[in-house]
Amino acid sequence: MVSRFLVIALIALVSFAASADDRYCENGLIAVDARHAGGDLDGCRFKSGDSVELTFRPEDRSVDNDFSWFSFRVTAKKPQKIKIRMRFPDGYARFWPKISHDGKSWTPAAEAAVRRNWSKKSMTLIVTAGESATWVSAQELLTQSYYDQWLEELAAHQDILTAEIGKSVEGRPVTLVKTSNKREAIVLLGRQHPTEVPGALAMRVFVDALLADTVLAKEFRERFTLLIVPLVNPDGVENGHSRHNAGGTDLNRDWGPFTQPETQSIAGLLEAVDKLKMTPRLMLDFHATKYTDSLLFYTQLTEDETDPPNFATNWLYSVRSRLPDFAFVHDPRPTSEQPNTKGYFYTRYGIPSFTYELGDEADRESIRASTPIFAEEMMRVMLQADLPGT
Ligand SMILES: [Zn+2]
Repeated sequence: MVSRFLVIALIALVSFAASADDRYCENGLIAVDARHAGGDLDGCRFKSGDSVELTFRPEDRSVDNDFSWFSFRVTAKKPQKIKIRMRFPDGYARFWPKISHDGKSWTPAAEAAVRRNWSKKSMTLIVTAGESATWVSAQELLTQSYYDQWLEELAAHQDILTAEIGKSVEGRPVTLVKTSNKREAIVLLGRQHPTEVPGALAMRVFVDALLADTVLAKEFRERFTLLIVPLVNPDGVENGHSRHNAGGTDLNRDWGPFTQPETQSIAGLLEAVDKLKMTPRLMLDFHATKYTDSLLFYTQLTEDETDPPNFATNWLYSVRSRLPDFAFVHDPRPTSEQPNTKGYFYTRYGIPSFTYELGDEADRESIRASTPIFAEEMMRVMLQADLPGT
C-alpha cells in the first residue's frame, strides 16, 4: 500500500513539476527548454513525434504589447528535423527567428525554414535538433552576462568609472558608466525595451567609438563627460519580457512620473549632475523598431529650438556625406504627450534628444560598419557647439 501511495505521489509530483514550469517540456524524444536567462515560453503541446506547438505571450496585457519575445532551446535524442509551430495569441509574429548553436553567435533562420502567417498570428519553423541544443530566439540573447562582460572590459579603460546608481524591481544593479567630470555631458541610454537588441548592438559600437584611442575621441572626452547607462531594464532582459520591467511598466513611459526604481535611478543621477553644475548637451536613447529595415531617428521638430541649435540636421547631414549609399531616416516629431525619455530631456534641458532606432531585422554587419561614422560625426558636430550659456 505504502509503495502504491508513493508511486501516486511521485506521479502527482512529476505532473505538477511539468505544468508548474511552462518554460520546459519534453516527450521523451524532444525537449524544449526556455529556463535560461532571457528565455520565454508560455505553453507547449507535442502534436506528433516531430512536431510541437509552442505558445508565447507578453508578460502583461497592454495596447503597446501586441507581440511577444520568444527564446528557447531544442534538443532531440537522435538528430532530426522538428517542425515548431509558434503561436502568438495576444499579438503577431514580430521577429524573424534567430538560430544559434552556442547561445552566443546567431544567424537569422533560413528563408525556406520559416513560414510566417501574419493574420493568424503564428509562425512555423523547421529546425534540425540533436543532443546539443539548437537555440531559437526572437533576437540575439544579450542578457546580464553580456553586459557584465562589457562592463568588465570598460572598467579596464583608464578614463572610465562604473558605479551602481540604483537597483531594479528585482534587485539587479542599474549601472552607470562614466568618464571624468567636465562641464558638459552626453547622456546615452540603452535597453529600456528588452527585445530591442539591434539598438543594443549599435550602442556598443557607438560607445566603443567614443572611447577609442583616436585624436577626435580624446578631444571629445576632454570636453564632455559621457554618462552611459547601457542596461536600463535588467529584469525585463533577464526574464525574457517583451516590453515592460518587472513592475509591469513600460519604462519609456515613466519619465516624469518616475514610479519605477530603474527610472528613479536615472532621475537621481540627473540631480547629481545638476548639483555638479554639469550641463547635459545631448541625449541618445537606443531602441529598435519594426518601422525600418535600417535606421531611423526620432527627434524634435526642425522648428523646435534646441541648444546646441540645429544639431540633429547638422549631425545627420554630415553622416550622409560620409555614407551616401546608406539609407536612414530622420523623422522629426512633435514632443509627445507620453512621458518618454526623448520628451523629458528636451523639456527639462532644451537639448537635442533622440530616439535612436535600429530596425528589428537591420543587417547586423551594416550596423557594425556604419555606427562608428555616426559616433564620429556626433563628436565632430558637438565639438563645434558653443559652450552652454554663451
Ligand atoms: Zn523601444
